[in-house]
Amino acid sequence: MTVHNNLSELIGNTPLVRLNHVTEGVKATIAVKIEYLNPGGSSKDRIAERIIDAAERSGQLKPGGVIVEPTSGNTGVGLALVARQRGYRTIFTLPDKVSESKRAVLRAYGAEVVVTPTDAGPDDPRSYYQVAERLAKAIPGGFRPNQYDNPNGPDSHYHTTGPEIWEATDHKVTHFVAGIGTGGTISGTGRYLKEVSDGAVKVIGSDPEGSIYSAPSDADVHQYDIEGVGEDFYPKAFDRNITDDIVKVNDHDAFLMTRRLAAEEGLLVGGSSGMAVESALRYARANDLDEHQLVVVLLPDSGRGYLEKIFNDDWMREHGYGDVVDATARPSLAA
Ligand code: PMP
Repeated sequence: MTVHNNLSELIGNTPLVRLNHVTEGVKATIAVKIEYLNPGGSSKDRIAERIIDAAERSGQLKPGGVIVEPTSGNTGVGLALVARQRGYRTIFTLPDKVSESKRAVLRAYGAEVVVTPTDAGPDDPRSYYQVAERLAKAIPGGFRPNQYDNPNGPDSHYHTTGPEIWEATDHKVTHFVAGIGTGGTISGTGRYLKEVSDGAVKVIGSDPEGSIYSAPSDADVHQYDIEGVGEDFYPKAFDRNITDDIVKVNDHDAFLMTRRLAAEEGLLVGGSSGMAVESALRYARANDLDEHQLVVVLLPDSGRGYLEKIFNDDWMREHGYGDVVDATARPSLAA
């Protein structure tokens, strides 16, 4: 009989699948790791479980405690999914650019949601970071997981995502590509893959144009529409020594690839996934990777959270991405 004791047992061990249609001009195998198959629908389930386990062990989180975190949605779902089963209250702060459907999901998981202005920078008292900080201090039993600084974030990927990729590829992976948000995914997974391959695996970051990780100077840091990735400061969870290269992608090209992944590959994923695939394909073309190379790209979440944005033709046209809609409307008829 295979009955799992709880949902936490289903976190991780997500599959790899080869891309077959969006890879024109690329000789290398591009395989994607489908993180929306985690029980909370994203890679963030991994960090949530490890962060809560560690906080219980260290005594930072006690029975009846309250978890307070600034999150664009996925970390909130992961934390709520684990926390609510163990009896903790959850409060999440998020910028108003995060879609209404993502907020509704958090509330459905029993979380309380506080919305803050997107244009408030990290030093602004109205920013989602600072509001979370104040709430965690003011509320008795408040615990701030702090995914940007917490070493259990990257460690969860070091102990799960990395080994899964290494085993699933029979140690043949040559490149790992992931978007950089807190930096936990790329730093933890990348560190593991570099260690087991004696440095042979190349680790490529993917970043939205306008984010600090790929901006040539401070003047190039600006807002962008892709959610969950990029930053305007350097979090501790990001280890700069792990990435060999960072390939930036603008909103338009990320959204075009996101739509193509759904329409041509049957992969309904979020904008940061489209961005990561676009970075991987550009890297493979620019470096002329051949058929002996195996590039693994991590796709963090599902496209279900973006139905009213990237997959909504009106929203796309209003935001200047109308040509993307036309390009992906009828892929099978276009050929
Ligand atoms: N994509 C999405 C949709 C995310 O929510 C996140 C997490 N912020 C990432 C990518 C980036 O992952 P990480 O924080 O581990 O760098």
